[in-house]
Amino acid sequence: MSRVLVIEASYLAASVFFILGLRSLTRPDSARRGMQQAAVGMLLAICGTLLHREIVEYHWILAGLAIGGAIGWPMGMWVPMTAMPQRIAASHMFGAIAATLVGIAEFDRMGNGAFVSRPLMAALGFEVMFGSLTITGSLMAFLKLQELVPGVPITFRGQNAVNGGLFALTVALFLYLVWQPDTAWAFYLMVVLGLVIGVSLVLPIGGADMPVVISLLNSYAGLASSATGFAIGNNVLIIAGALDGASGFILSIAMSRAMNRSFGNVLFGAFGAPPPAAAAGAGPLPVRAISVEDAAVQLAYAQKVIVVPGYGLAVAQAQHAVKELAALIEKNGGEVKYAIHPVAGRMPGHMNVLLAEADIPYDKLREMEEVNPEFPSCDVALVIGANDVVNPAARTDRGSPIFGMPILDVDRAKQVIVLKRSMAPGFAGIENLLFHAPNTSMLFGDAKVSLQRLAEQVKQV
Ligand code: NDP
Repeated sequence: MSRVLVIEASYLAASVFFILGLRSLTRPDSARRGMQQAAVGMLLAICGTLLHREIVEYHWILAGLAIGGAIGWPMGMWVPMTAMPQRIAASHMFGAIAATLVGIAEFDRMGNGAFVSRPLMAALGFEVMFGSLTITGSLMAFLKLQELVPGVPITFRGQNAVNGGLFALTVALFLYLVWQPDTAWAFYLMVVLGLVIGVSLVLPIGGADMPVVISLLNSYAGLASSATGFAIGNNVLIIAGALDGASGFILSIAMSRAMNRSFGNVLFGAFGAPPPAAAAGAGPLPVRAISVEDAAVQLAYAQKVIVVPGYGLAVAQAQHAVKELAALIEKNGGEVKYAIHPVAGRMPGHMNVLLAEADIPYDKLREMEEVNPEFPSCDVALVIGANDVVNPAARTDRGSPIFGMPILDVDRAKQVIVLKRSMAPGFAGIENLLFHAPNTSMLFGDAKVSLQRLAEQVKQV
């Protein structure tokens, strides 16, 4: 078999594995297999690429493998689940750096554009334009989520006009380059403007909207990779980039929908700004704290309990403790379900992954639309480290930054027990009236410790 045939066959097999991987990732019970299928696809694509005749020596590739492995292995093994969004942002940045550098190298190799045809210039220009803005956009997203720069929106007058102007200028340069490919100054100016736009695009977006931004940047990185594939004639890059671009875009739309926000509102709405001072000045509201013993009695005699996990469950790593408590409630004859909000936690699917880690059966997990009608008939809604996703202000308070976001209707349950450490707000930084409602009791403390103490008490009831 000729070398080219082997390469193309490996690319075809890799593409099939990528598609199968994406398909498996659509269900929690096959998601792990999906990651493995995608990894096999990537291995095949790399092996195929290493057979290319144009590779004259391997030591730089080996050096890249060693450096990449040295960075990637610890990132995969030791970055905690709670830091996954910023880890993903960092990965996109590396991907975008690679795509942009390939574009620049290709432009340089072809006599600074002198031997670049117009269609090729369109592909190269697209690659470096989206690649460069994804580099700094992802870097900003990383810095915001890691709280190295303030997570609140950073805005100034006329910001959208400035951003629009910069983008229009970049597109004009791109079009000029397609017409006149040998204009090196326009090419490099476009790269610089792309880098500036990445920063200015993400600055006004609040930390709470970063997941949407990250998946949108993911789709840009995918587009850049696809364009790279066209530019260097690599089929697997075209396919993988298109899959990456499309899935990132679909995920961004799905997340915006889950928050009941339009794309435009996410990108230009400066969501996540602190609430106006007047909103906080209503005076202290009543809070009913509950003891572990009393909460355990309620849970032990409940017929129906709906567990609502949130970001605090991830912080406390309380997934095994909640499973243990649920088993005791079920032993007493109660029914336990888990209500999953699409943006609970800090990344899409965060709660599914956590609960799967504790082997909680998937058939006990309920999507928001499915479970909401069940709250009025639920004896106890057990809220574990969730805050924004159960905030009734999203339904009632037009002035609230989360107004319109669909929430879990926990306040409609007969009794609500909230496990958190304090009255501190959640990610959106806003007060939650659920915690002051007459049917709500607060069990203060670390979620894992509280769940373990509850389990001890339920055993004794
Ligand atoms: P929130 O961030 O609203 O609230 C989490 C709560 O957990 C806090 O109020 C905190 O209160 C509590 N908590 C923290 N640590 C512990 C602990 N060890 N034990 C007990 N409680 C703890 O979480 P939600 O899941 O309700 O909402 C997610 C928010 O994050 C939404 O605003 C969403 O838009 C945003 N977001 C979502 C992403 C996604 O893709 N899922 C990504 C990024 C942001 P206290 O400090 O008092 O304990």
